[in-house]
Amino acid sequence: MTASALAATLFGPEDLRMIEHPLGPLAPGMVRIRFGAAGICGSDMHYFRHARTGDFVVKDPLILGHEIAGEVAEINADAPGLKVGQRVAVNPSRWCGHCARCREGRANLCENIYFMGSASKYPHMQGGFATLFDAVPAQCVPVPDHVPLKAAALAEPLAVCLHAVRRAGDIAGKRIVLFGSGPIGLLTLLAAKRAGIASSAMVDIAPAPLAFAARLGADDIVDVSGGDDGLKDLAARNPFDVAFEVSGTAAGLASAIATVRRGGTIVQIGNLPGGSIPVPANAIMAKEIDFRGSFRFDREFDEAIALIADGGVDVLQLVTAERPLAEAPDALRLALDRSRSVKVVLTAN
Ligand SMILES: [Zn+2]
Ligand SMILES: [Zn+2]
Repeated sequence: MTASALAATLFGPEDLRMIEHPLGPLAPGMVRIRFGAAGICGSDMHYFRHARTGDFVVKDPLILGHEIAGEVAEINADAPGLKVGQRVAVNPSRWCGHCARCREGRANLCENIYFMGSASKYPHMQGGFATLFDAVPAQCVPVPDHVPLKAAALAEPLAVCLHAVRRAGDIAGKRIVLFGSGPIGLLTLLAAKRAGIASSAMVDIAPAPLAFAARLGADDIVDVSGGDDGLKDLAARNPFDVAFEVSGTAAGLASAIATVRRGGTIVQIGNLPGGSIPVPANAIMAKEIDFRGSFRFDREFDEAIALIADGGVDVLQLVTAERPLAEAPDALRLALDRSRSVKVVLTAN
């Protein structure tokens, strides 16, 4: 069966077009997925605006999208547990399974990993903002009938946050601070609450995302649009054991270094600008800060599906708008407006 897919394809900064892509016959070992729902991620927005995110630069037209759920349309593989018509969340990671990092159980650091809708490798691996796309069976995680596909699509960002909380170590009973109140900051807050934190502070420069964090139960809300003196006062009164830097900005990281307690931990989740950035790094030494990166996720993807299915984390409370896939370019513009949007979800029609 040959087919074609209509896909949100990025040609350059702010140049995203719905383009028909021919699909050949399904290759051996592959599963073809019919689009069901997708989340628009911060990295999709970075690609859309700048045709790059961090150090990853778009060199060829790139179909965006890596927070995807859909239905199995065709199978040309040994795929136990999968059948045509099955509803699945699609894990955007395709790791090799045999490099040193894979063998030590850190597949997100695989030397040969491909990730959907990412320019991290060349040729780029195309993404899932497409009416049809292909995946390997291991990427397809069945979704229980009662879980809407738009919720299943958000397993990916939740997995990112579960991984970040795991990277922080045991945070039960600890006080945390999060820099950046977008979807990843908010889901990290929810994941950290599940892990038993004592209290939380959410830091941002925009009022609407901060108000959202207050509704989700952040204990302290700190607007640093006019500087971080208030944050420093708060940290002096009630110190932060763990900081999650989600904003991906030099200012956010500088504030994290300045306000986490001596001997505290910083988890870097946000994608910082590529190249070198100025930060007061000497304090990492003087305060014995554990500064840890957190990149994507590994087995947390399956945990995220289970948590969404059993109601442990209500990801749909983050969804502020739904738009059909065919309107992806406008949906990205809407997602970029932080005064109106937390999570924008694309649907099949
Ligand atoms: Zn994402
Ligand atoms: Zn590997």
